[in-house]
Amino acid sequence: MPTLDTRAIHDGEPDPRIEGAVSLPIFQTATYTHEDPNDEVRYIRYNNTPNHEALHGKLASLEATDDALVTASGMAAISSTLLSLLSAGDHLVAPQSLYGGTLDLFDDLLPRFDVGHSFFPKADDPSTWSEALTDSTTVLYAESLTNPLLEVPDLEAMVDFADKHDLITVIDNTFASPANLRPAEIGFDISLHSGTKYLAGHSDLAAGVVAGPKDLMEQIGHTHKLLGGMLDPHACFLLHRSLKTLGVRVRQQNETALALAEALDNHDAIEKVRYPGLPEHPDHDRATALMDGFGGMVSFILTPETDVAAFFDDLTLPIRAPSLGGVESLITQPIHTSHASTDPALRQKMGITDRFVRISVGLEGTDDLVDDVTSALDQA
Ligand SMILES: *Cc1c(COP(=O)(O)O)cnc(C)c1O
Repeated sequence: MPTLDTRAIHDGEPDPRIEGAVSLPIFQTATYTHEDPNDEVRYIRYNNTPNHEALHGKLASLEATDDALVTASGMAAISSTLLSLLSAGDHLVAPQSLYGGTLDLFDDLLPRFDVGHSFFPKADDPSTWSEALTDSTTVLYAESLTNPLLEVPDLEAMVDFADKHDLITVIDNTFASPANLRPAEIGFDISLHSGTKYLAGHSDLAAGVVAGPKDLMEQIGHTHKLLGGMLDPHACFLLHRSLKTLGVRVRQQNETALALAEALDNHDAIEKVRYPGLPEHPDHDRATALMDGFGGMVSFILTPETDVAAFFDDLTLPIRAPSLGGVESLITQPIHTSHASTDPALRQKMGITDRFVRISVGLEGTDDLVDDVTSALDQA
């Protein structure tokens, strides 16, 4: 099989190329002629325009699945998938450290359709997981690289557990991206993305992805059509353009993130670095076995003596903003962003205090970024 870089450029492209166009144009039309009643109806919300279909082929190739679907956002991918796979009376299990929007969906929306959930008592101990099961459990939901602790869960144990209990496995692969990890290769059924992050890669659009086997994708595609969260052709074009450089972008982000994590690890103003590429990270061995790279996200805890505000003020390159995966490095205190609404006791248990910082490494020069962050620490 060609490499991910080659697949990102050539797979999914129309053959023959439409009007010979090397780069797939934007089909900014809501509907398509339908003269033969036997032909498929093409309509913008049905996700079957040339822009959608090219993306579906490319993303399925990148995720090593039969099929893929693009959606208007990551939450559209997550909600369409769960509302498709779960019915009233069903129940799902998951580790607790999940994206905030996903947790809110579990807590606020799914119960209104009589879908319950339980968390694994201990995410890192598979022997406890069956305690979370009920007679109605049908889905296991996970994330491949968690926010902001950057844990790599025991994904192989999850697939074994789901096989044993006949559960459909769904994983949010946003933080790893298919450049670093393809959950289908481990045995996950459905892989989801906030395409807003690494797939789009430039912090300039919202998109989502669902990838999986044909039968499940047909079912999810049908629900998604009804919910209507389709991706507009212009956003399709931007996402398509971005995917062609996914491999080079993420490899560079992996490299800079590792260099930054190592520099931080040796800095006096840092109490602890959380990066799966460092041997001291509790999931380092698993990350090494499962992932092609350790990702572009680095978390760290400043020492109590360090002036957090001064550190942020002295940074010149990373931009203080939530989200991730773009060309500009972005830095946040999760206590004020992704985990602002997390129960303070749970936050404390996870070690997420006001000294906890998360950086999404962009594509600035490695030395420039490392120097910028370490000199801000020198002065803090
Ligand atoms: C951002 C994010 C989402 C939600 O995606 P949107 O594109 O903002 O809807 C879901 N999961 C993870 C892990 C994310 O980082």
